[in-house]
Amino acid sequence: ALLINQIAAGEVVDRPASVVKELLENSLDAGARRVEILLEESGLRRIRIRDDGHGIAPDDLALCLARHATSKIRSLEELEQVESFGFRGEALPAIASVARLQLTSRETGTEQAWQISVSGGESGELAPAAHPAGTTVEVRDLFFNTPARRKFLKGERTELFHVQDVVRAAALARFDVEFRFQSAERSVWRLPPALDAQARHQRVAEILGEGFLENSLYVEHEHLGLRLEGWVGLPNFNRANTAAQHFFVNGRPVRDKTVAHAVRQAFSDVLFKGRHPAFVLYLCLDPASVDVNVHPAKQEVRFREARLVHDFLYRTLYQVLGEYRP
Ligand code: ADP
Ligand code: MG
Repeated sequence: ALLINQIAAGEVVDRPASVVKELLENSLDAGARRVEILLEESGLRRIRIRDDGHGIAPDDLALCLARHATSKIRSLEELEQVESFGFRGEALPAIASVARLQLTSRETGTEQAWQISVSGGESGELAPAAHPAGTTVEVRDLFFNTPARRKFLKGERTELFHVQDVVRAAALARFDVEFRFQSAERSVWRLPPALDAQARHQRVAEILGEGFLENSLYVEHEHLGLRLEGWVGLPNFNRANTAAQHFFVNGRPVRDKTVAHAVRQAFSDVLFKGRHPAFVLYLCLDPASVDVNVHPAKQEVRFREARLVHDFLYRTLYQVLGEYRP
């Protein structure tokens, strides 16, 4: 089982950022209103994610670490309509097979918290612990037992950059949730829940940097059941990398070829040639017309009518950008 989990880990976990992504998704799936992310050495040494979600019952703690022990899907029919991020039950066992993982949780409405540790797939005993309602997952020494994997990791700066990308996306997807992100004892982001337009603006400014909102155009357009909302950055806010490119489909972060092409094309046809435009865009459409479970870890989606989506995005952005006169 260790080997199988390590192979699965190759699919799901390739760097600290992918661990953070899986753990964040679990916290959000658990209905957390507040999530804390803490890193040491950009997560290479330690990643700790704490949430105030519904927690895990003691009987289920060890089970979570067994492969395919997801609590999120009970039948094949359900698989067709999963809306939660996780439905495969392989992230935790995969992470536990290539790191030292400690899971501590107190289920909502119970008095006692419990804890279990796994190191390189070897499970310890369930033990009582002190913990508020919710869950903490701590991952230490990623890839300590798979040196070949460890070799592929980049330096701390790069790994931190990727983790930030994941946290940024989560914070832009879930304005209703409070996020705290701390790296090397320094607070990177403290984001209270953003429940009104002003608070959302504040969060976007905090995450994308001062100047983004001032140098961007607001988009809001609906057509044939497709709805696009968000901000597109103007030329003076173009960045040297893709850190300021965020696209969400029905609330989840997505990197998709159809989307990327439509956005790039609109920008370059209007004003921006050969740079990295900044944008935060939310596309909403009928969940039945998009498949979000194409690949477990990659943020790909498959649109039933890719052409329609492409043209809608292209035309909407072309029009918005085209109305801009510097
Ligand atoms: P999946 O998310 O695909 O179900 P995971 O391996 O990520 O699989 O998690 C396994 C199970 O552990 C989840 O289905 C859930 O029941 C439980 N779990 C993991 N993290 C949390 C959390 N933060 N809060 C509550 N339950 C959790
Ligand atoms: Mg999961």
